[in-house]
Amino acid sequence: MVDLTKKEYVVVVQCHIVKERCPGYLCEKAFHERAGGFAPYPKDREYRFLNMTCGGCCGRALHRKLTLLLRTLRKKEGIEKDKVIVQLSSCMTKDNYHAPPCPHLGYIRTLIERIGLDVQDDTVISDTSQRRRDEGVYQS
Ligand code: SF4
Ligand code: SF4
Repeated sequence: MVDLTKKEYVVVVQCHIVKERCPGYLCEKAFHERAGGFAPYPKDREYRFLNMTCGGCCGRALHRKLTLLLRTLRKKEGIEKDKVIVQLSSCMTKDNYHAPPCPHLGYIRTLIERIGLDVQDDTVISDTSQRRRDEGVYQS
């Protein structure tokens, strides 16, 4: 269990293909409201927030993006990686109207874990999509 009170910096990773169209607003809103995958984050604590895409299938570019981010955070502000958490967007982790979950999810999680970063699933959770998951229309 990740202690979210010890984190300072949230990196939301989103599907590169989906982000060709999606501005990512609903992910940001869910974070602002501490809803969906962000519900466990304390409301009274301020976090830095940055979003990036996986870089495209199979997600391997994410390793370079995150390692450069960590190097820069340490160099510019002394923020170490134990203060950083990655949150995988719901369009990667969940079956939904548009598509099943990312087929490279396991690989992407492994990349992130090898860097030594904590990683959690989900951002915005739509009521309709969740109902369809509960009814078995969507698989996860
Ligand atoms: S979860 Fe929704 S709002 Fe967030 S990047 Fe994916 S499609 Fe866009
Ligand atoms: S690797 Fe997954 S999250 Fe990244 S672009 Fe491909 S389908 Fe989307």
